[in-house]
Amino acid sequence: MSTGRLTIDLDAVVANWRALDGMTTCKTAAVVKANGYGLGSANVAKALFKAGVRQFFVAVAEEAIAIREELGPKPEISVFSGHMKGDTDLIRNLGLTPMLNSVEQLTHHLETLPGHPFGVQLDTGMNRLGMEMQEWAAIAELALAQKPRLVMSHLACADEPDHPMNPYQLDQFRKMTDGITVPRSLAATGGILLGPEYHFDLTRPGIGLYGGLPFDQATPAVELDLPIIQIRDVAEGEVVGYANAWQAQRPSRIATVSGGYADGIARILSDKATFYDGDTPCPVVGRVSMDLITVDITDLPHAPNKLNLIGPNQSVDDLAQAAKTIGYEILTQLGDRYTRKTFGK
Ligand SMILES: *Cc1c(COP(=O)(O)O)cnc(C)c1O
Repeated sequence: MSTGRLTIDLDAVVANWRALDGMTTCKTAAVVKANGYGLGSANVAKALFKAGVRQFFVAVAEEAIAIREELGPKPEISVFSGHMKGDTDLIRNLGLTPMLNSVEQLTHHLETLPGHPFGVQLDTGMNRLGMEMQEWAAIAELALAQKPRLVMSHLACADEPDHPMNPYQLDQFRKMTDGITVPRSLAATGGILLGPEYHFDLTRPGIGLYGGLPFDQATPAVELDLPIIQIRDVAEGEVVGYANAWQAQRPSRIATVSGGYADGIARILSDKATFYDGDTPCPVVGRVSMDLITVDITDLPHAPNKLNLIGPNQSVDDLAQAAKTIGYEILTQLGDRYTRKTFGK
């Protein structure tokens, strides 16, 4: 078998949820959008449900199908994108709670599904989703009379604890919601770490569950090993890979592993990423191609049959840094071709 092997530790996901839940005195939901940040939303939701999670968030209504199928009618599944035209059947049939983002969405929701649960998303300065201060002021009374399940907003800079945007958005959120009796939510992973004044009634962690920054105490939840398909010795001066991008400066031993940019290992990692054999680093040489990567294993005393890309010596965030991106992107790009071994509850 020549596919990479992605090991997913659901016990780690549950431990991370418990750790984040333990930092607050309010309720803790779980964000499972983008297929559970690439780890498999149905499996992740199942494990978290067993651990006591009763509220899940997805980005779009279609993502709720797999979760409802797995968990049945009990947990609340909320949709960040709200109630778009064309979502009505899914929202009704799956019993979803759309987070309404505009007066237009609110009107559409009340017209098409009167009496059906909803929440409201407010914009406190990120300018991405949600009703703005004036819009909210105009319809808050009407919306609140329909008893929304939740009023929420999202922080733009929560991964930078000292950023002035955090207290600014907190202040805006308070101005827009102080005095209402509906439960409130402002914090994702970063917001939980900012402290109690950001917690309100419900937090919505995503990345921290999956072992990523800014939750630096997280338990890693994934490992990735790529099998070596072939090993060859190249003489000093020989070249490796597309565009002759690497040239051996000494007699070298090159391992070709199965995996490439089609599997989410970005081309920017060409000549940059490091694989590991146990604790020994083995540098990528030459271009990352679609399905293959060439790795210098000259310094290994033996010929391994696989190399590790995400594991004890290199976290998701380490790899993200090498790829000039964030852990979120590494996880959500994890390829469909990997053989997935999911263990834990
Ligand atoms: C993705 C998302 C979250 C989860 O954020 P993390 O940083 O992954 O914890 C929470 N709320 C909203 C609105 C989101 O889009």
